[in-house]
Amino acid sequence: MKPLNITVEDHAVPQLITSALEAYEIGRTSPRKKEDKLETFGLLWGYMTPERGNRPPRIIVTTATVETSALVTKGSAKPDLGSLRMKMEFVTRYWPHLEVVGTFHSHPYDSLSEAREYKGWQASSPETVGPNQGDTVFWPWLHEELFLNNPYLGHLIISVTALQKTGWALPKAIEGDSGFELSLGKRKIWITSYASEAIEYEDGPGAQMMDALPVLDIPSMTHRAIEGNFAQASD
Ligand SMILES: [Zn+2]
Repeated sequence: MKPLNITVEDHAVPQLITSALEAYEIGRTSPRKKEDKLETFGLLWGYMTPERGNRPPRIIVTTATVETSALVTKGSAKPDLGSLRMKMEFVTRYWPHLEVVGTFHSHPYDSLSEAREYKGWQASSPETVGPNQGDTVFWPWLHEELFLNNPYLGHLIISVTALQKTGWALPKAIEGDSGFELSLGKRKIWITSYASEAIEYEDGPGAQMMDALPVLDIPSMTHRAIEGNFAQASD
């Protein structure tokens, strides 16, 4: 079994990154309080090409939607399943060429040192957050709950932290080919990827995390990060 390949097309990228930045920098204001550095959660849409000969299985992300009804805090984002079902029904009815191919959510960190200390770009798991909790429990659960017809789902984490001063570093790969880190002005962003797959358990269909990390391809992103930093430097 080859690792899942995930290609994110350029026009899906602004939604992913700006929703993570909005939750981080703007947050949410209610009459009583303002909270920032929140998580966000959304769905990835597109299509899938199956494994064939030398070609690995691939999902191609063409669109992303954000769950504005998700219960979000600094350390969690819990989507409303009713909202996810509504979107699947609505989108596939009017855009029959799209299907859910995965999820994304963000990890906000107060500082670069905090993000580095906890390797905050990695998926949370029972080892890091407690029994039966974390991304690696939630993703297969969601896969099983709503997406059993999908052989694979890709899951992206957009980790965000503010920098003290404008960063200027070339984008670099992290966690093999499954993610990368970027400096975007006074922000550092990590995009990492994971995959879950449908499997047949003895007592029926279910889902599990795939052992191998995906190969993540966001062809436009590195080039945009470099151009954006040039643009800022010449302002
Ligand atoms: Zn997470």
